[in-house]
Amino acid sequence: MIKNIGIIGAGTMGSGIAQVAATAGCAVKLFDVNQEALDKAKAALEKVLKRLIEKGRIDASEKDRIQANIRYVTALKELAKADLTIEAIVENLEVKKKVFQELETYVSDTAIIASNTSSLSIASIAASLQNPERCIGIHFFNPAPLMKLVEVIPAVQTSQNVLNTCVAEITRWKKVVAIAKDTPGFIVNRVARPFYGEALRMYEEGVANFATIDAAMKSVGGFRMGPFELMDFIGNDVNYTVTETVFNAFYQDPRYKPSFTQQRYSQAGYLGRKSGRGYYDYK
Ligand code: NAD
Repeated sequence: MIKNIGIIGAGTMGSGIAQVAATAGCAVKLFDVNQEALDKAKAALEKVLKRLIEKGRIDASEKDRIQANIRYVTALKELAKADLTIEAIVENLEVKKKVFQELETYVSDTAIIASNTSSLSIASIAASLQNPERCIGIHFFNPAPLMKLVEVIPAVQTSQNVLNTCVAEITRWKKVVAIAKDTPGFIVNRVARPFYGEALRMYEEGVANFATIDAAMKSVGGFRMGPFELMDFIGNDVNYTVTETVFNAFYQDPRYKPSFTQQRYSQAGYLGRKSGRGYYDYK
């Protein structure tokens, strides 16, 4: 068992991953540069755990235990004791590299450094470290506490020992691990690109509106969410960036071409549920 976990970024994914690790009994330090994000993560966890009590899934002492396992911090240095750190900040290679390089100056020689990136090259992230063998992709899905699947992505540099340790620990967190090769979008995000892309193209061609496409996919296709609902749930900015990264990583293969509609929605701040407006209005 890994005792000390560091999480970088207290947004949608980081806060969910912190909950998963804390539930599994780890001592978690959740770091964000933005105090507001930390406050929001703390309040959201309180709400989620209260709901779990109401549903009879946990009791009050379990809620206290999970909450006591998470500390909210505003300095990266606080993660110095982390045996495994999972980064979940903005999907930007240069920003991630900078944070990883700083983190490596604080943690022990044996500490594992992982990224929750949806689409970036783990090899590139690893190459920014003094010890690239310690770097790996650990890709959770949204919402992290509910989604069973976690992709574990060894880079060409990753040591077998780091891979084995991560697979064992994530399995202990009651997740189902799929080991994927370090290629753009890994497994799920690559398969999902045409789902979003084709839905956006159909809307742009005037085939049907958002709600009609979503309804068709749910009622006939058996999907839990239609493509527009799902993009609003994930965050249009995050989803657009992933598509752009996968498109460029595959040498502009037209199968993954990003959509101007989604680009403009992201630029307008219509990010989806988290901003109160996306393809749908949530206010
Ligand atoms: P988000 O925008 O909800 O949260 C990102 C957080 O990181 C914010 O709180 C921000 O303040 C913080 N942050 C930004 N720069 C930072 C820095 N330098 N140091 C510390 N904190 C910093 O983003 P998200 O949706 O949680 O996505 C995070 C990562 O997880 C991305 O790489 C994304 O591709 C990946 N991911 C997202 C989803 C999803 O459905 N949203 C699913 C799987 C993976």
